[in-house]
Amino acid sequence: MHPPLIERRQFLLTGGLALLAAGAPAYARSGPTARTTPFTLGVASGDPVPDGFVLWTRLATDPLASDGQGGLFAPARVLWEVAEDETMRRVVRTGQAVADARFAHSIHVEVDGLKPDRPYWYRFTSLGHQSDIGQARTAPAPNARVERLTLGMATCAHWELGYFAAYRHLAAERPDLVLFLGDYIYEYSYRGDRAKGRTVRAHDRQDDVVDLAGYRNRYALYKTDPDLQALHAVAPCLMTWDDHEVQNDYSNQWSQDPEVSTEAFLRRRAAAYRAFYEHMPLRPRSRPHGPDMRIYDRLRYGDLAEFLVLDGRQYRSIQPCPTPTWRGGHVVPETCPEMTDPSRTMLGARQERWLYDGFKRADARWTVMVQDLLVAPINQTGKDGQEGHFTDGWDGYQANRGRMLDALAASRAPNPVFLGGDIHSFWATDLKTDFRKDGAPAVASEFVAAAISQEGPPKGAFDKVQARNPHVRYVDLETNGYASLTLTREAIETRFQAISDRKDPAATVRGLQRFAVEAGRPGVQLA
Ligand code: FE
Ligand code: CA
Repeated sequence: MHPPLIERRQFLLTGGLALLAAGAPAYARSGPTARTTPFTLGVASGDPVPDGFVLWTRLATDPLASDGQGGLFAPARVLWEVAEDETMRRVVRTGQAVADARFAHSIHVEVDGLKPDRPYWYRFTSLGHQSDIGQARTAPAPNARVERLTLGMATCAHWELGYFAAYRHLAAERPDLVLFLGDYIYEYSYRGDRAKGRTVRAHDRQDDVVDLAGYRNRYALYKTDPDLQALHAVAPCLMTWDDHEVQNDYSNQWSQDPEVSTEAFLRRRAAAYRAFYEHMPLRPRSRPHGPDMRIYDRLRYGDLAEFLVLDGRQYRSIQPCPTPTWRGGHVVPETCPEMTDPSRTMLGARQERWLYDGFKRADARWTVMVQDLLVAPINQTGKDGQEGHFTDGWDGYQANRGRMLDALAASRAPNPVFLGGDIHSFWATDLKTDFRKDGAPAVASEFVAAAISQEGPPKGAFDKVQARNPHVRYVDLETNGYASLTLTREAIETRFQAISDRKDPAATVRGLQRFAVEAGRPGVQLA
């Protein structure tokens, strides 16, 4: 049994007030208390490294309070504890953080000093209440030989269109690490009078969220969901965002609505990014500065995997060939030379350089790109019956995609795999440096997870998509669910997991399709 270690630095930072913190029970009895629990939004861990991870919670006694403050105003001290066992008897690290109104009473604790590659459990105490216990896991030492890693992939959860049963089933698999690939919230609502029968529950606010109080309310609502809380409580996560964390089809400083000025849109983006930070287990260094927030990052998991987490929204060029009323859309290539203009970028020049340097340095068994969108090109029929591409995804940024896949092939980064979401359907594809040449070899494999609860794509949007796009090895447009990956030294096994009905809170799960990717042999194999 180890006695609890008080983190000396944090002890001093909080001054005399910290004297009560010698043990959780004394602290819980002595501090100010709230009548109801402030732990209404669950707990989470993220960004695992060999000696620690980030712990997150946000205190909120009234999570949906219309001012976005969660019912709290004064700063509150939060005691955190990390233990080696699930009953929290063998506490090995403990410390305090201050939750205050500036970041909506959220805390982001960087725990260090832990042993690599093992599970830990954690909980928080504040205002006379204790949180649920969450489970986290440290990453292996950078060059440790690692035999196995399990991953969950989740994307596109609209509260109104379905329940989060898919999150619950993924939590039950107890993956080592969960990847949230974007559209964790939706900023827009289906007002009841607009959508009879289409929705199963309503957002707390039926308007589109545009300001800080609105985004805080939206994240808090989603975070009250027990299935989402369960998923965060079983494993650390890595996350990126897509458009709906801010606004549908936004790019960089441009709203999808051409009438909104870039100044006004950047104010909205600042509010949205701030609320994202406040609700996710991110490091304090990720804290936004006005409308800017860096989330692209790399993470090594022993010698088995190198993760490159990308940001596909913040730095991109505007979509090519917008119409007077809409930014992204279906465009026929002959009418839009911009679509292949090499001066345009999805990732921004700086992130592109960082990524290509990361490819060169990658030396783990698997190189895994964690990003928001389908990478493979898709020829599809528009409403006008003509073949073309949708411009909001990688198809609108073809020169950047070409540079990325060329750089990847040239770097010889080991066994590259792209993971994505956004398209509300399951996809497995072979990525190539030349998609036009019949029989060109794959340079990477791609898996895209279906939506947790969003509706699938419109009927007919992907008619004959495999015949028109032979690099698409599998597609399912009908189901909701998530994907699970098991990485070993020899192969990745991917399972697409379908839930029975997004409108049923008790939905069951079934395996839809399995795939293999063999080390040393790029491309997807159906199992
Ligand atoms: Fe989505
Ligand atoms: Ca999206």
